[in-house]
Amino acid sequence: MARIYDTAKSTLALRQRKRFLLSQFQIRPDSLRASLVERFSRCGKSNCHCHHGGDKRGPFYYLTQCLAVGKMNKLFLKTAAQQHSARAGIDHYHQLQEQLEELSQINAELLRREEKLGHE
Ligand SMILES: [Zn+2]
Repeated sequence: MARIYDTAKSTLALRQRKRFLLSQFQIRPDSLRASLVERFSRCGKSNCHCHHGGDKRGPFYYLTQCLAVGKMNKLFLKTAAQQHSARAGIDHYHQLQEQLEELSQINAELLRREEKLGHE
């Protein structure tokens, strides 16, 4: 679900906001569309405390990527560096996605007002 942006502004204000958004757009090289999942789990030894009510092992971090309905790409992130890179990449992807979504909502509103959407 997308965040709803305030488009109840003057056409001039929407155009100014649009110009600002366009000036901010930047595709960061580490952009990553994925989720970071934290898991605690039991180890392989059945006599270990984690199988008998003790704390589970973890946290373990996984990157998950939904590629299609029912098709999930899952990757175990072994190192702290991988986890850090994943967090930053996911963040950058979200930033761009939000800016693009706001631009799209402004364009829909401008279209409703029978305004041009392209370059003035
Ligand atoms: Zn264990």
